[in-house]
Amino acid sequence: MTLTTGPVDAYPEVLRALSRTVLYDYDPAFQHFYENVCLKLQKALETKTVPVILQGEPVLGLQAVAASFFNKADIVLNLVSGAYGDGFGEWVRPHCGELLELRTPFNEVIDVEKVRQMLASRPDISVVSICHHDTPSGTINPVAAIGQAVREHGALFVVDAVSSFAGMDIMPEPCCVDMFVTGPNKCMGCPPGLTILGVSERAWKKMHANPTAPRDSVLSILDWEHAWKAGQPFPYTPSVSEINALDAGLDRYLEEGPQAVWTRHDLTARACRAGIKAAGLEIWAAHDSIASPTTTVVRLPQTVTDTDVLEVARRRYGVIFSIGRGETKGRVIRIGHMGPTAQPIYAVAGLAALCGALGELGVDVDAGAACAAALSVIRQ
Ligand SMILES: *Cc1c(COP(=O)(O)O)cnc(C)c1O
Repeated sequence: MTLTTGPVDAYPEVLRALSRTVLYDYDPAFQHFYENVCLKLQKALETKTVPVILQGEPVLGLQAVAASFFNKADIVLNLVSGAYGDGFGEWVRPHCGELLELRTPFNEVIDVEKVRQMLASRPDISVVSICHHDTPSGTINPVAAIGQAVREHGALFVVDAVSSFAGMDIMPEPCCVDMFVTGPNKCMGCPPGLTILGVSERAWKKMHANPTAPRDSVLSILDWEHAWKAGQPFPYTPSVSEINALDAGLDRYLEEGPQAVWTRHDLTARACRAGIKAAGLEIWAAHDSIASPTTTVVRLPQTVTDTDVLEVARRRYGVIFSIGRGETKGRVIRIGHMGPTAQPIYAVAGLAALCGALGELGVDVDAGAACAAALSVIRQ
């Protein structure tokens, strides 16, 4: 059982779609299909513009954004509450004029008031960037409030929502996001291999005016601007099978209904957090109010190593978890509730496996209390 933070187990419908025939990309049937997938994406992201699909997993997408969106005239404020926010700053640094950072301990989230103060002290800030759900920390930044402050300042807003989109209510336009980066391989329950970009009209203008935006490159976003329309050329061959999978993932998401999908992510995470606390363990996030509905990050007792816990959970219970990254490396176990495993019973299974593994490694945890606490959240 894969209870990781991505890649995650794929939905059965998605696996079936991966076995669809591989059409030639200039077959009119594929061209129309591709346009239709892009329009479904637009529906899912609720945007005025048609989203862009890039042919590589979201790390490629984030680097494409760094190269295409930023230029030497930009004064960038990068907000850092975890490893992905930190890493994005390093991708942007070589492309921009000046990189400013506002950092918070990785078990807290960015404070909107501090962002406002920083913007007021530097009127020349032209872009603000943030990771919405910094997965290694399992915390959710207040992106809507920050977006409002950024818009009032007149800057553009770049958001990494790779591991939160489709797992909770996060849409680019209500949050004033100009460049919204996500992917199918987390909450949409598809395999890794694509990036999805929500691009505002202002973002398109900015990229067109950017003399250093890549062209004829895998990092080019501009090359894909019109590719969604049937009859328009692709810059290079799209990943046909991954598009088939994305199509099935989108159908599933839209048919179940976004609200219902978000609700089961939230319920699973709440059941999981209740169980962790009842077991006598601690959540990494400083408060429940900032804990993610798509990932539960559990602080490890100092007497065990993350790799031992992972090994015992897998060998004894057949459950695979994720470990930490950056500041959380060696200090946590991460339980993913994304896509198909965002069902409350997986919280119970995950708790049983984690408590079982910890118990075997000599930690005094109450597995029974953990499962009972999760069940009582589920019953409510
Ligand atoms: C998963 C993820 C990415 C993509 O990174 P990979 O490690 O290559 O899967 C980017 N940003 C966030 C916040 C993520 O969770």
